[in-house]
Amino acid sequence: MSFLISLILLKRRPLGSQQDRRSIRVGIPKFLNVWGTHQFWVGFFKALGVGKIIFSSDTSEEQYRTYGKGRITMDSCYPVKALAGHMGELLYKDINLLFVPMIYSLPSFLRGHVVDTLSCTRVMMSVENIRAGFTRERDEFSQRGISLVSPFVPFGEPELLPKYLWESLKEVIPGLTLEETAKAVEEGFRSLWDFEKRMREKSLEIIKWCAKNQRPALLVLARPYHMDPGIGHEIDAEFQPYGYPVLWYNYLPLDDWLLDWLFGKEIRAGIIKSPFDISDVWTSSYSSNTNEIIWGAKFSARLPWITGVIRLSSYECGMDQPTFTPVQKIVESSGTLYFKFGELDETKPAGSVKIRVETIIYYLEKYSKDIIERKLKRLGPIPKELLV
Ligand code: SF4
Repeated sequence: MSFLISLILLKRRPLGSQQDRRSIRVGIPKFLNVWGTHQFWVGFFKALGVGKIIFSSDTSEEQYRTYGKGRITMDSCYPVKALAGHMGELLYKDINLLFVPMIYSLPSFLRGHVVDTLSCTRVMMSVENIRAGFTRERDEFSQRGISLVSPFVPFGEPELLPKYLWESLKEVIPGLTLEETAKAVEEGFRSLWDFEKRMREKSLEIIKWCAKNQRPALLVLARPYHMDPGIGHEIDAEFQPYGYPVLWYNYLPLDDWLLDWLFGKEIRAGIIKSPFDISDVWTSSYSSNTNEIIWGAKFSARLPWITGVIRLSSYECGMDQPTFTPVQKIVESSGTLYFKFGELDETKPAGSVKIRVETIIYYLEKYSKDIIERKLKRLGPIPKELLV
């Protein structure tokens, strides 16, 4: 154990011994659905007046080997397995509250014409399984003066959030009331929506640049945690030096005029009920990320300047399997190029990624101009808002 870590463990005070919320230091593992909701948690805990929020580092093989090995018993996909390393790492940080939400459903921009916004069931199971890994022989959380809180979080039913969060936090946050928790939940959503708005504005800026310069872009279809360099292995970043801007489906612009340009004809023809309706291509819409990936595929098939789609998926992901063929079909039916990097795990296949990226760039350079022209012809005049 390093000298610095010994110092941290010595000065750590258990939560029960303090009254001042500013002395609460919350550790949050940067894993799975925290990638899509982290701004909610930042807004929520800031509104409650806690002293500091500390996220774990990006996933890495070293993180898992040092802090997580042997802590997870179930056979698991790689992103779930990585959680053990994140939780273990936080035990060595200067925190006194470890907050690991069991996210049951997610906030989603897809509303009205999808069935549900559930998260993958493995995400829920993982927290309890890994908790057991740290308490089997002795309770390593309490031993280090850390309270572990893992509330059930149904973002799909926001009216239930204050109750669930208050019930799990009232013992560890002095004087916490249900009303105060409800206000903090509002702040959490405000912070999440502000962040997403800024991200969508950035994506629109990129699309405008592409429209003005008739330049192609790429769209990534993956789960939000593939932005974690240890899970997605920065495959998206490999394309940037070649001058291909990269967009992520979950932060695409949702401006009415743009969606009307892309989906308006199909709505008026009665094929879909709204720009967010995916029932024409996906009938079993029960999972938030899956629904959004399918919608992203539809978006990419229509937007002229997205000439290539990169699909990422992790080792042992049962949720992604049924989506591979529909997503590929949706993308390719429009002439857009489709490339898949599947079964990603802890090993970064740097050499093979490089070779594949070079091949993909070859195809993008060869076909992008034609793809843009063909897609533009189908849609008609470019909206003036895109050219300002
Ligand atoms: S969606 Fe796939 S990779 Fe993600 S937690 Fe579920 S099974 Fe694992």
